[in-house]
Formats: sequence, structure tokens, C-alpha cells
Amino acid sequence: MAEALAELFAGDANAWRAALLAGRATVRAAVDAVLARLERCERGPGALNAVLAVDAAGARRRADALDADRAAGRVPGPLFGVPVALKANLCAEGLPTSCGSRLLADWCAPYTATAVQRLVDAGAVPVATGNMDEFGMGSSGENSAFGPTRNPWDPGRTPGGSSSGPAALVAAGLVPLALGSDTGGSVRQPAAFCGIAGFKPTYGRVSRHGLVAYGSSLDQVAPLARSVRDLELCLSVLSGADERDATTLPEPPVVPELADEHMTLDGVRVGVCPELLEGEGLDPAVRARVEAAVDRLVELGARRVAVRLPSAAHAVATYYVVAAAEASSNLARFDGVRYGRREGGERSLQEMIAATREAGFGEEVKRRILLGTYVLSRGHAEAWYVQALRVRRRLRDELDAAFEQCDVLVAPTAPTPAFALGEHVRDPLAMYRADALTVPASLAGVPALSVPCGFVDGPAGPLPVGMQVLAPALADARALRVGRLYEEASPWRDRRPPWALPDEVPA
Ligand code: GLN
Repeated sequence: MAEALAELFAGDANAWRAALLAGRATVRAAVDAVLARLERCERGPGALNAVLAVDAAGARRRADALDADRAAGRVPGPLFGVPVALKANLCAEGLPTSCGSRLLADWCAPYTATAVQRLVDAGAVPVATGNMDEFGMGSSGENSAFGPTRNPWDPGRTPGGSSSGPAALVAAGLVPLALGSDTGGSVRQPAAFCGIAGFKPTYGRVSRHGLVAYGSSLDQVAPLARSVRDLELCLSVLSGADERDATTLPEPPVVPELADEHMTLDGVRVGVCPELLEGEGLDPAVRARVEAAVDRLVELGARRVAVRLPSAAHAVATYYVVAAAEASSNLARFDGVRYGRREGGERSLQEMIAATREAGFGEEVKRRILLGTYVLSRGHAEAWYVQALRVRRRLRDELDAAFEQCDVLVAPTAPTPAFALGEHVRDPLAMYRADALTVPASLAGVPALSVPCGFVDGPAGPLPVGMQVLAPALADARALRVGRLYEEASPWRDRRPPWALPDEVPA
């Protein structure tokens, strides 16, 4: 049994499911082992601070039900027995949805998000919520009201954000799969910083019902895993129209384009553009890793083509106007009346609302609300918000034009490897600039994958680098196929971080 469990933790979700179906362990034993590890990972000097809440009772109940189903001969779902961590902005029965905020700290949603429900219906077992930047606003996890998460590759560094906890949990091998959300890169960038795979689907491909809104025209629920084939498996369950989210597209779920050893990249045109691969602030070592990955794609049969994306230079400014505007409107609902915490309840309504928001929101959230309210206000909206929408449209048109010349576009996921905790906290603009390479796909609504493409030397050991693969809207399966063929032809997937549990886990 101990051996079987060790084997589970060494593999990805596909391997996890296969081992359980082969009867190597019961789901209950596997889930108990996950729960024991989750508890230990938060102890001692090596604590990751990746977990915000654990639903041990719910996970055990679910595991027992899956074992019973199996004993009764019921057909197992595609995610049979796979434990998942959820970003704390996804509503799920049994787990508080704090959004990394004091304002919602113990708030429990009365319903389950569609994305979570679809995983559960496929046999997955939600075990915990992961730490995050408050309401998804941040690129390092440091804006969480519950303290920063540490990167398993170097505990002095950020795992990225805002899906900091889910990414660290997958990278540390504590769960094989997690759901995050990606508004401007919050799944892709932590995936890159943690050496795992993360995917932002085409906008509208996955339901946002039950995802606490940040920037509604940008937000997508997005999976994190140890392999691209796991992302494909997850997407095939997660995606597809939902009558509870009017912005979902009337499309069937994403079907993986089967990638086996006979499949090559013959004829695939890989676009590379100077705006994303030679931009200011790009670490030369990161660029070298991505260039080497493009060479590898060419060896696998792809053709490199040069494309242009002139407006990419304005993507950060555009994103921060649009996202802040939408956030200021979305976060107006946190008024001390409907959800979570209330302060100054004995005073007038206006005073109560002000006191609740003053005490409940952190600094970055307040900054975004102020910025968003300003860019939407009369007299300023034309100069800021409306102008940003124009640039957003232009960027989308440029991407459409680029995709006339190439099938996928390849770029680094982030300009640098994981930066040190504290490095950017006093300089919000430096933090925003770190999103320069992920926000273009968000603004355009196109799918984008981050897949590990090598390592660079950090002061405390190697740090992972991520490569992005962007595809046209609805070509999610294409981005995943290219990423999967690259992954299978490169050695990075099997590299594990040096982080280890503080003490032996009895299996
Ligand atoms: N770092 C970006 C922001 O702070 C993206 C966050 C996200 O994708 N949720 O807005």
C-alpha cells in the first residue's frame, strides 16, 4: 500500500486515476494520504502557506462513495478519484470562499460553481482551497490577507499569482490537479514560476457560474496540472456551454487532438513576434530558454514564422484600465449587507458600508477600486475606459491578423523567473509590468497555455521557465496539442522541486 501511494504522488492525474482503477489503492486510502500531507505541508519552517481551508469530512465522504460505486460496478468517471485543490474564489459546498480577503474570511457559498460540479461529477475529489491574492488582484500571492505562499523551488520566492496556493500545491506534488482562475495571467504565470502546466481557455469556453467575479470580460476558470495531457483531460470535463452563465459559448466541450508518438508538428506554423520575445524587461536567460524551445518545435516539424503585434506594448496599460473598471463595479456588492463581514453596524448605512470596506479590503484592492472608479467616472471615461476598449479591439485585430500567418504563437509566459518575495511589493507598477506577456491573450479572449520549457540558475538553485502557446479563439485543443508534443519531447515534466514535507508521511 505504501508503495502504491508513493507511486500515486509521483505521477500526474492520468497516472493517479489509472493506478486507482487498477486497484493499487482505494480512493479512501489515497484521499487520507493527501489530507495527511496537506496538514504537514503547512507546518514548520518549510511551510508553503498554500492552503486556506481543508474539507476533510467532505473529501472522505466522497472517496467512500467512489469506492462504493466502483465495488457496485458503476462506470468510473474520467477523473475517478483525482484529488483537486480549488482557488479560494470558486464556490464549493463544504469549503469557505474567502477570495483571500478578510472581508469574506469564513463566508461559505450556498451553492457549487459549475466548473467544480463538473469535476465532481467526473469523479474528482475537492480536498482544499488554495491561497490567492485578494480577489485575484496580484501577481505574487503577496496580496492575500492570509500571508504569502512560498515557491517549492525556492521558499524565498513567490510561486506567482494570483493562483499562488493552487500552483504551489500542484508543484509540490500534494495534489495532481487544481482549478484556478485567469483574468490576466493568474494561472499561466504561477504555472511558469512553479514549473507546471496551466491553461487559460478561450473566453466563454468554461462557465464562470460560481467564480467570484473580478474582471468579468476577462475572467476564466483555468486548470493547473503536472502535464499537458492532464489539462486536456480536465478541459474535456470542464468546458462546454452552461445555461447559468450567459457568456459561455454554445460550443461542445474541448476534445483533445490525440497526441501519440506518431503525431508530429509537421506543417504547424509557429509564430514568434518581437514584441513578446524581445520586449523591454525580458530576462535574457528566459528568452534563451524560449528560443531553444522554438528550435525544438522546429525539430519536431514546425515552421517558424515572424509575425507582428505592435499594440502589445500597450497591453499592460489597457488591461489595468479595463480590469480595474470591471473590478470597481463587481466589488460594489461587498457592502456589509449581503456577504461576509460587517463593521460599524450601529451607525448609518453609509457609514456601515464605508467601515466594512475600509476594514475588509486590503491595499491593492482599494487601489484598484479607486482606479476603476476614476476611469469610469464622467469626464474621464472617454479618455481612459473608452480609449482602453479601442486599444483592446486593435490588439484583438492584430492577433487575428497574426493568426492568418501562423497556427499558434509562442512567447515567454513571464519576463523573468520567479522573483523574490517582497521584491515588488512597494512598487505596484513593477508588479503590473510582470504581466506584460500574459495580458494580450486575456484582452483578446484567446486560449493560452503555459508549459515548462527549461530552467535558469537562481541564487538558491534552478528556477523554472514557462513558454506560452497562444491559439486563435476556439482552437484550445490546438494549443494543447502543440504543448503536449513539446512536453513529450522535452525532459522538463519530470523535474521535481527540492521542497519536501517537514517529516515523513506514514502511508
Ligand atoms: N496579475 C494580474 C492582476 O493583478 C492578473 C490577475 C489574474 O489573472 N487574476 O490583475
